[in-house]
Amino acid sequence: IDTHPNLSDTAPVALSYELFPPRSPAAAETLWTTIRELEATDPDYVSVTYGASGSNRNTAVELINRLVLETTLRPLAHLTCVGNTPTELAEIIGELLDAGVRGILALRGDLPKDSGEPVSGSLRYAQDLIELIRRVEQRRSALLCAGKVAVGVAAYPTRHPESPSEAHDVEVLLAKQRSGADFAITQVFFHTDQYADLLTRARRAGVTIPIIPGVMPLTSLRRLKRLGELTGVEPAPELIERLAAADTDAERLHIGVSATVDLANAALDAGAPGLHIYTFNEHQSALEVLDKLSLARPARSSSRLNALARRQLAS
Ligand code: FAD
Repeated sequence: IDTHPNLSDTAPVALSYELFPPRSPAAAETLWTTIRELEATDPDYVSVTYGASGSNRNTAVELINRLVLETTLRPLAHLTCVGNTPTELAEIIGELLDAGVRGILALRGDLPKDSGEPVSGSLRYAQDLIELIRRVEQRRSALLCAGKVAVGVAAYPTRHPESPSEAHDVEVLLAKQRSGADFAITQVFFHTDQYADLLTRARRAGVTIPIIPGVMPLTSLRRLKRLGELTGVEPAPELIERLAAADTDAERLHIGVSATVDLANAALDAGAPGLHIYTFNEHQSALEVLDKLSLARPARSSSRLNALARRQLAS
């Protein structure tokens, strides 16, 4: 197997991708091309986002159902708690479990812009959602004989915009671990030392769950700026400058991919147990990042071979 240089004798690196539910039939078609390309890399799971208000519930569940039924991919369903009541959320969790989902990323979601407050009657924090997932799982334990639900949470290499400090963020991560989180995926970050710093802070505070770096190949200045506005994470000035100075799409792709490879390599050197790639439903830059990283991955699994064989039969 190809290996990351510093990991040749260590455990394989988990690989995952983030997708979002398509907003139109044309977007669905592009997404399915991406899904097939990503499937051929045999990721450990693909995550499917969920709108903070719950407005895309149907398209999210529909995509998850198709991933379960039509691909070899294991979905990790994002779920947010600010836009739904606990009763509604319990119903959605049940629906996901019935669809065969065994991994949920428990999130609060961004607060509604107008009020800045969770919808009345909804859960306040991601921690409350983890506890609800565990209660629903408990009630269905007879059904879930194939194993427990893996619950993931968000972690922040740079301070969450509403948080008083990075130390507070780590306390929140520890609280999420105590409530039953199994692993965390980080928010995007732009500096190579930020993942290692988060890991050090988290381990010192007693966080023991795996923390997987989330990296996003940014190949467009407009998208980079929009991401900064949405997440509150300050984009790296040098990345802004380099993208602004680039003349062609090929140059922008090269810049975005190499910046992402640098972040991923630094995180792997710091001991990251996996890599989560935010894809924007596009495969080209994600695949280029993978190509340049040479991750330690398990030998081709039968699931991957089956997927490739199925595609060849279909062509
Ligand atoms: P929480 O952990 O609840 O934290 C929210 C705020 O409350 C923080 O400032 C925290 O410090 C504070 N806090 C938490 N618990 C406590 C406590 N017990 N006491 C005091 N303060 C507390 N958003 C979406 O809408 N849909 C998605 O699909 C989505 N996917 C994401 C995936 C990843 C990997 C990441 C990193 C983020 C994602 N987000 C998504 C964005 C996320 O919803 C926002 O960052 C949101 O503002 C916070 O969510 P959280 O789960 O971290 O919330």
